[in-house]
Amino acid sequence: MFDTVLLAMPAPQALALLGDHAPGLRAAAAGAGMCPCWALMLRFDAPLAWDLDAAFVNQGPLGWMARDSSKPGRPRHETWVLHATADWSQEHLEDDPADVARAMLKAFADLGGAAPAAWTAHRWRYATHAPALTEGCAWDAATRLGLCGDWLHGGKVEGAWLSGQALARRVLQQG
Ligand SMILES: Cc1cc2nc3c(=O)[nH]c(=O)nc-3n(C[C@H](O)[C@H](O)[C@H](O)COP(=O)(O)OP(=O)(O)OC[C@H]3O[C@@H](n4cnc5c(N)ncnc54)[C@H](O)[C@@H]3O)c2cc1C
Repeated sequence: MFDTVLLAMPAPQALALLGDHAPGLRAAAAGAGMCPCWALMLRFDAPLAWDLDAAFVNQGPLGWMARDSSKPGRPRHETWVLHATADWSQEHLEDDPADVARAMLKAFADLGGAAPAAWTAHRWRYATHAPALTEGCAWDAATRLGLCGDWLHGGKVEGAWLSGQALARRVLQQG
């Protein structure tokens, strides 16, 4: 028995837990279109001689790439993160990570990137939201069920934090 239940997770996972409860929350979660993103993290033995730290690519497999090691406070190793586009990620959602990495590394090489010393692929199943939602959080006073997560606050980790705060305020207001 619980007084209040707050679900802090992507919309499809929240929807599965809501069951038949709180139709308003179900509608919010069901309406959140979430797209996947294959992400590839690369480590190099030496800095890439490239006069850029980040770029939107948006052609072929690649959507975005960034020199992660250029961010403040990162270790000195040269590291990059590649994101595939939502469409390409959806098409290759069930592919073997090694095949995904091969395709993304080829696209990276075609742009002039070098072969990494090591890579890690991560299938980010619920990555982006189309359209982006800005409700902040969702709360059902009758059942005392609440939803929060980046998908309710414009995406990204800042959105997740702000969404959690917004839901906490709703719960405190309710008493
Ligand atoms: C590779 C990668 C790179 C990223 N880079 C950036 C970046 O540079 N900047 C940025 O701002 N954001 C970045 N993000 C996005 C950021 O990680 C997310 O915006 C943030 O984690 C969302 O937080 P959340 O709490 O809404 O959801 P999540 O972090 O997805 O947390 C949901 C949690 O709920 C758990 N869960 C799900 N279902 C259940 C269940 N049935 N029972 C119990 N637990 C469950 C999951 O295991 C998970 O721990 C990145 C994400 C990835 C994957």
